[in-house]
Amino acid sequence: MGHFCTNIDYQTPSVLNMQNTGNHQQSNQGKAKPKTWNYHPQLPVTVSPLFITPLKIGAIIKWFFLSWFPISERLIILCISVLCWMSFSPSVEQTQTFEWSWVLQIYLRNLLLMIMVTGGLHCYLYVFRKQGDELQYDTKPFAQNKSSFTFNNQVWDNIFWSCASGVTIWTAYEALMLWNFSNGYSPQVAGPFSTLWLIGIIFFIPIWETFYFYLIHRLLHVPVLYKFAHSLHHRNTNVGPWSGFSMHPFEHLIYLASVLIHFLIPSHPLLIIFHLQFYALSAATTHTGFAGLLAGDKKWIDLGTFHHQLHHRYFECNFGALEIPWDKWFGSFHDGTDASHQAFMQRRREQVRAAHKSR
Ligand SMILES: [Zn+2]
Ligand SMILES: [Zn+2]
Repeated sequence: MGHFCTNIDYQTPSVLNMQNTGNHQQSNQGKAKPKTWNYHPQLPVTVSPLFITPLKIGAIIKWFFLSWFPISERLIILCISVLCWMSFSPSVEQTQTFEWSWVLQIYLRNLLLMIMVTGGLHCYLYVFRKQGDELQYDTKPFAQNKSSFTFNNQVWDNIFWSCASGVTIWTAYEALMLWNFSNGYSPQVAGPFSTLWLIGIIFFIPIWETFYFYLIHRLLHVPVLYKFAHSLHHRNTNVGPWSGFSMHPFEHLIYLASVLIHFLIPSHPLLIIFHLQFYALSAATTHTGFAGLLAGDKKWIDLGTFHHQLHHRYFECNFGALEIPWDKWFGSFHDGTDASHQAFMQRRREQVRAAHKSR
């Protein structure tokens, strides 16, 4: 499928990147090759073994285990969710009746979480530079005095949209879904296998996220929606923790609408809380701009995905994630290698030519 947008505004960053690639090609004719990334993982970037045939059961089990254990962003977010469900959430009885007091309680908790997790990562990696540029993909500083950003400042722009729009819409969905649950409007995890259901759906949520995210992300790259909404997220060609959840309210509305699946599958307050926290907080961890957090020389947790970093730099590739290889199936996969980049640029040039011909 390989959708490419033909909108002029939208093309601008890609055209710039084409120019960069021109330099890159010149450099191959004698001069030293410019460094495209400060750090990148082992290339090519590979997709999960879930859809590789013949199926390799051992590889699938290993991949699945390592995506959660011994420690991962999703396991940490699950622990935060359990803590919030047990100690920092209104009871089922309270949420049966809509009242601003318990909605405000959820809002303040979510705002605090956003500041602690996203702000914590930002301070650790960018303010105090605790690991320097180790594992940092792109060392270009965040934009300042740039009019494309609210307040002319990338970090303040990202904080504003994450908190003012993101946390508000996250809270609205959480309140709606908890109210639904309490009033029996959505199916509930119950019966003898309820614990197994609960665990099964927790493991299912990240897979569902990959499926859902690809579809809405492709939709958001349709020119009219890109210009109206998604371009706000793409102001960030170089990303940091605050960039992940920095979206237009329309994008927050459809991004977090993923939680509406609990109208169809068995639900539970913990699942609703985890589902939304996974979306909101992993947006920060996947956009850190670093491949992981270091303890000494050792990476103890994986963070931002290089796959999505490529999307922020080149725009028309890697719309999905690596769990379900949508991008491979539909011809938009960029695996980070030179060969993949040349193929990507060729597609891009053909698209630009076709757009000029049709005018
Ligand atoms: Zn995008
Ligand atoms: Zn992004």
